[in-house]
Amino acid sequence: MITLDDYAPIVGEEVVGQLRRLAEHLQGRRFVHINSTSVGGGVAEILSWAVPLLNQLGLETRWEVILGDPAFFEVTKAFHNGLQGFKVHLTPAMLEHYRQVNRENARRFSWEADVVLVHDPQPACLIEELRPQAAHWVWRCHVDVSRPQLAVWRFLREIVKQYDASIFSMSQFAQNLPHPQYLIRPSIDPLSEKNRDLTDKEITAVLHHLGIEKDKPLVLQISRFDSFKDPVGVIQAFRLVRRHAPCKLVLAGGEATDDPEGAEILAQVQEAAQGEPDIQVLLLPPEAQHEVNALQRAADVIVQKSTREGFGLTVTEAMWKGKPVIGGAVGGIVLQLRDYHTGFLVHSPEGCAFRIRYLLHRPEMARRMGQTAREFVRTHFLITRHIRDYLTLMILLENPGNRLIEL
Ligand code: UDP
Repeated sequence: MITLDDYAPIVGEEVVGQLRRLAEHLQGRRFVHINSTSVGGGVAEILSWAVPLLNQLGLETRWEVILGDPAFFEVTKAFHNGLQGFKVHLTPAMLEHYRQVNRENARRFSWEADVVLVHDPQPACLIEELRPQAAHWVWRCHVDVSRPQLAVWRFLREIVKQYDASIFSMSQFAQNLPHPQYLIRPSIDPLSEKNRDLTDKEITAVLHHLGIEKDKPLVLQISRFDSFKDPVGVIQAFRLVRRHAPCKLVLAGGEATDDPEGAEILAQVQEAAQGEPDIQVLLLPPEAQHEVNALQRAADVIVQKSTREGFGLTVTEAMWKGKPVIGGAVGGIVLQLRDYHTGFLVHSPEGCAFRIRYLLHRPEMARRMGQTAREFVRTHFLITRHIRDYLTLMILLENPGNRLIEL
């Protein structure tokens, strides 16, 4: 089992000691996280390491996953799309179904808690049934709400405003709400199977297993098959690059159980990739952590050409592996990539193609950029910083209005 001390060689003894000191104020607190999928996507990724570590620190932390039928996930995907700015149509029957599924889930939960952290809109409505079961309710928004469809946000706002606080990943996402809003960046776990160091032999074995021959420089995007991740735009960029530089593109992705649109987008990607032998589209199972790690380490350039992005853990993961990353200039990607330093931001398939070529022709610069990116992640986006933020938040919640709080 990985323990907190195992992180000391990576982040320093002082950082680990600081977590222990903060946690002393919170021994035995009951902390519940609720989301809507146990696999797939960034939220499940974070919870899978945050929950055990918080328990090690002496907080009784549990992770609940709400259940829903396909119609429920159609509604919540429409919320997701609407919050990220797409036009969506929600009928009163759909909204009632959303409430109904939340009511049914509420009956499954009998715990009591000090703090409940509800992730994203899917379980947001639970507060209406379960409010007395926890002292503090916090809503954590992981999506890019910089330009939401107003009808969708107005509906959700009526629910969210019942919370004691909300958390967003960056200031651009903050909303008009009657409670405190906290900005907490997501993070990655450097010791997880997805991010731990791998030997060359392990990387080669995965490539072999996935049928990828590394006879040319490898460009990679790993994401759920979601239109906001713009996989078709990546293919367009790749076709432009290919005219000038030999390279391969791997588009790898899986499906999240709370995302009903994956199959449709995958079909679009397969069609766009047709007739191009240097493009490989891989559908990965949710447990393919080791494969994702190896693919990211095998790549020469990593792309995350999103058109909206809550944060983009795939960017963080790639940076941690010392890779040069090209990302869409949106949402949380902007917090991570600084042009010419930690990566490149782009606004179009043409811009993306330009930067891929630029990096393929400058391996020394790509290497330096990757090293800078890794150090940037070490300082800002590792799990120890995230845990510190959660602990600090809990202390703040327990001391409302106090002007002097000893951390
Ligand atoms: N991921 C994965 N397999 C896949 C696609 C994605 O394990 O086929 C992981 C990816 O490595 C990252 C997370 O899912 O840890 C995606 O998080 P991100 O913030 O990039 O996007 P989200 O899916 O939450 O929008």
